[in-house]
Amino acid sequence: MSLKGKAALVTGSTSGIGLAIAQAFAAEGCNVMMNGFGEADAIHRLRDELVAKSGVKVAYHAADMSKPAEIAGLVAETQAALGSIDILVNNAGIQHVARVENFPPDKWDAIIAINLSASFHTIRAALPAMRRKGWGRIINIASTHGLVASTHKIAYVAAKHGLIGLTKVMGIECADSGVTCNAICPGFVSTPLALAQIEVRAKADKLSVEEASHLLIAEKQPQVQFTTAEQIAGLAVFLASDTASNMQGTALVSDGGWTAQ
Ligand code: NAD
Repeated sequence: MSLKGKAALVTGSTSGIGLAIAQAFAAEGCNVMMNGFGEADAIHRLRDELVAKSGVKVAYHAADMSKPAEIAGLVAETQAALGSIDILVNNAGIQHVARVENFPPDKWDAIIAINLSASFHTIRAALPAMRRKGWGRIINIASTHGLVASTHKIAYVAAKHGLIGLTKVMGIECADSGVTCNAICPGFVSTPLALAQIEVRAKADKLSVEEASHLLIAEKQPQVQFTTAEQIAGLAVFLASDTASNMQGTALVSDGGWTAQ
C-alpha cells in the first residue's frame, strides 16, 4: 500500500527530527501540515522547498503545543486544509537541564505540556475521524529517556516515560480500529535541542563543542555516533507502512546500544 495522497500532521516540524519526518512523508507523496516556531521567512522557504521537491500540498499552522485551544485549532485546520489527518506525528519537544532542586517550576510545566500533554490533546481531537475512516497512524516521538533516566532531566524523563505509557494505552484502545499508535525512541540526534545541552556541558567543563559532543555520546552510546534525523524519519515512514500494521503500543529504539546495556 502506498502512502501517496495521505495527509500527515507533524508537530514541531520547522527544525530537526520533525522537519526530517515532514520531508520523508512528503517524499512518499503525503500532503503535510507543518507546525513549530521559527522566523516567518525561514518557514516559508522550508514550505516552498518541500513543495518544489515533492509536489505535495504543504500547509503550516503556528499552534503553540503547550496550549490546548491552539492544538484544537491545529487539528481542525489540518482537517480543513488537507481533507483529513491520516498520519499524526507528535514530535514537538523541548528540554531543560538542571538538578531537581534548581529546576524552575515553569520549565517543568512547559516540558510536561509540550512533550506529553500535547499528544493527549492531538490524539483526542484527531482519533474520531481516523476511526471513522478505519485507518490511521499515530507516531509519538519519545526518547531513550522514555525508557531509562539520566540526571538533571527530571521533567523530560517524566514526560517521555509518560508518553510511552500513553502510547501503550492508545495501542490497545485502537486495536479494533485500523489505527495504530507506536513510539520511536531516539538516542542522541544532532539537532538544536541536543546542541544546546552540548554547549552547556562544553561551557561547564571548559571543553570545545566537539569534545563535549564526543563525551556526551561516548558515555551513553556504545556505537559512538549520533542517530540521524533521517534515520528517525525512516522509522516513522516504516510505522506508517503496511509492514507495521500489526504493531501496537511499541517503542522502537535507535540509540547505538544505549538501552541495551
Ligand atoms: P528541535 O529543537 O530541533 O525541534 C523541536 C521542534 O519543536 C521545533 O520545530 C520547535 O519549533 C518545535 N516546538 C518547540 N516548542 C514548541 C511549542 N510550544 N509549540 C510548537 N512547536 C514547538 O529538536 P529535535 O531534537 O528535533 O526534537 C524533536 C523531538 O525529538 C522532541 O520531542 C525531542 O524530545 C525528541 N528527541 C530528540 C533527541 C535529540 O537528541 N535531539 C533525542 C530523543 C528524542
